[in-house]
Amino acid sequence: MVPGRFDGKTLLVTGGAGDIGRTVARRCADEGARIAIVDLDEPKMAAVVEELRAAGHEAEGYRCDVTDSEQVATAVAAAVTRFGRIDFCFNNAGYQGLFVPTPEYPEDDFRKVMEINVVGVFNVLVAVARHMRDAGGGAIVNTASYAGVIGPPNMLAYAASKFAVLGLTKTAARDLAPHGIRVNAVSPALIGPGFMWTRQTELQAAAGSQYFDADPRVVERQMIDSVPMRRLGSLEEVASSVAMLLSDDASYVTGVNLEVTGGQ
Ligand code: NAD
Repeated sequence: MVPGRFDGKTLLVTGGAGDIGRTVARRCADEGARIAIVDLDEPKMAAVVEELRAAGHEAEGYRCDVTDSEQVATAVAAAVTRFGRIDFCFNNAGYQGLFVPTPEYPEDDFRKVMEINVVGVFNVLVAVARHMRDAGGGAIVNTASYAGVIGPPNMLAYAASKFAVLGLTKTAARDLAPHGIRVNAVSPALIGPGFMWTRQTELQAAAGSQYFDADPRVVERQMIDSVPMRRLGSLEEVASSVAMLLSDDASYVTGVNLEVTGGQ
């Protein structure tokens, strides 16, 4: 925590109603930022906005499906009207997809994962980049995943989508540097406790592969024992990494994928 680091700045967070998004929103708000939450889930989003306001922060929610470029443009425009400008974007909405071996992976879920994790990230990146270019700069962090570094079993669509997020990050970093906009990615791996951690251990156990046990509790141990730090990373540790990349502490850092993994 660096109190005051983001004073007077505005952060737009997609997937801001979810575990990682709301934790990053709270961290940056605690460091001074005003927060625009963008999410599909209106009730959860309203609860996050209320929580931020109750803590004395300025926050607004924008219901938006990131797969729809018009909705994204409308949400970004509304946030700019409300806050004056967007300095930072945490481009984070995502969907983990099914856990199914490659020969059985269903096309409809592959398309759904690509639509949310790739087209959605693209839509937000483009809309925010246009605004930041016109406003004179900014910083963007895209949420990739360690799945997009190693290609874990049974996660064909998710791994492909997160490799794509790294490609978007690298090219956007080059294209936007002349406009004073930095673009980086974070790749969390074993983060929990939380929905994604529970879901992935249960679904990996159920998928029936040579890599994981059929008991989710054993899968948890197998995964945790595979990293040097031998523990889960916390949501707060992801938030610290994102806040660092958004901040001036990373003023000469762009096009980087920061693996928040406990060391794989
Ligand atoms: P989460 O499910 O708690 O949050 C995801 C949020 O995205 C939800 O609030 C959901 O409503 C929103 N969302 C989904 N589709 C959307 C759409 N079309 N438009 C707008 N919002 C949409 O999950 P999380 O753990 O907070 O994950 C956040 C990001 O982190 C995702 O991109 C995920 O792939 C990535 N990630 C998570 C982990 C982990 O272990 N939690 C690890 C690596 C990467």
